[in-house]
Amino acid sequence: MLRLDFHPAGRHFLQIPGPSPVPDRLLRAMSYPTIDHRGPEFGALGLAVLDGIKKIFKTRHPVIIYPASGTGAWEAALSNTMNPGDHVLMFETGHFASLWKKMADGLGLKTEFLGLPGVEGWRRGVQPRMIEDRLRADAAHDIKAVCVVHNETSTGVTSDIAAVRRAIDAAGHPALLLVDTISGLACADYRHDEWGVDVSISGSQKGLMLPPGISFNALSPKAIERSEQAGLPRSFWRWSEILEMNKTGYWPYTPSTNLLYALHEALEMILDEGLDAVFARHQRLARACRAAVQAWGLEIQCVEPERYSPVLTGVVMPAGVDADAVRRLIYERFDMSLGTGLGKVRGSMFRIGHLGDCNDLTLMATLAGCEMGLKLSGVTLAGSGVQAAMDCLQDTVEERQAKVA
Ligand SMILES: *Cc1c(COP(=O)(O)O)cnc(C)c1O
Repeated sequence: MLRLDFHPAGRHFLQIPGPSPVPDRLLRAMSYPTIDHRGPEFGALGLAVLDGIKKIFKTRHPVIIYPASGTGAWEAALSNTMNPGDHVLMFETGHFASLWKKMADGLGLKTEFLGLPGVEGWRRGVQPRMIEDRLRADAAHDIKAVCVVHNETSTGVTSDIAAVRRAIDAAGHPALLLVDTISGLACADYRHDEWGVDVSISGSQKGLMLPPGISFNALSPKAIERSEQAGLPRSFWRWSEILEMNKTGYWPYTPSTNLLYALHEALEMILDEGLDAVFARHQRLARACRAAVQAWGLEIQCVEPERYSPVLTGVVMPAGVDADAVRRLIYERFDMSLGTGLGKVRGSMFRIGHLGDCNDLTLMATLAGCEMGLKLSGVTLAGSGVQAAMDCLQDTVEERQAKVA
């Protein structure tokens, strides 16, 4: 018989970069009874979450909520704005950028994948200069969209989206800017309106701390206008009917009622803490995690310090060590899940998630599990990462507040 209470003693440490641990408060909200999605209470819930989520994207424009994983929201962004055969410029930052490109190919778009050679591009952020140069060369404006990943979850690299916007503007190019912030949102600073993003794509199970199952498209007026003429086939994903029904807090189909309860609670938790405080907490934990990796004498997957991700840290294994064997040992011995290496970096690195519902002691326990697991795997460590992280976290409350201010 399949047992769903896999972990009888203590909590399982779910330290993958999504799904992230779901706070009890959200789980409790999800246990409320499912209500009539056409009834009066539902409209109030719908309006509350549709309004609240705008604050997280920092937008005044509509945000669509789909009962789908992030992958569905990727498809929605493309199918609502593009015509068959349209030329889209994408940037290879890692596995998720590669999967999005594969989807665009599958939808019949003409994709162009810019990037640095080999795995080099999997250690750095989007290079705005390369985008600018490519757009300048496109005098006929054949390129209809620039697609980039904000926080590349496969590597732990966060790209500068404002710089990508500036690159498009500097080239005087009318392409839409589509951004995957599936793992970045509510962890790393994100500004849909200010950065001039046309469609921002996100998901529920990373920084928003929800279980998987809902995802988002934040829109710009230009994207909405484009969607009225876009020719790619779409039905379930079509924005227009959803936007119309959302005006009163309803959907054209049955939405994920209980996940929307959780979203309502998550928005309250995030906005009560304050977005800036949430970002600062993630930066601080990420800094402590990197201090640990450096003290172990191991390499961080991201080689551009200004692009270090506040969401996760990619830890590169010394030559000859199978990162997945280390991960497996840690899972079996310490009941902790770490992220596997994906695509080009499979086996050479693992990922430590420090996103969402994570605090100092969550991180310390996580690092203790890693340190013990690395030693048990026979990896030679230069020093104690746990000690280095503790030193890093021993700032006073006043010092911490000063950092947030
Ligand atoms: C998780 C993730 C996805 C995929 O989302 P699903 O919810 O698994 O469909 C895409 N892009 C990024 C950057 C992600 O972190």
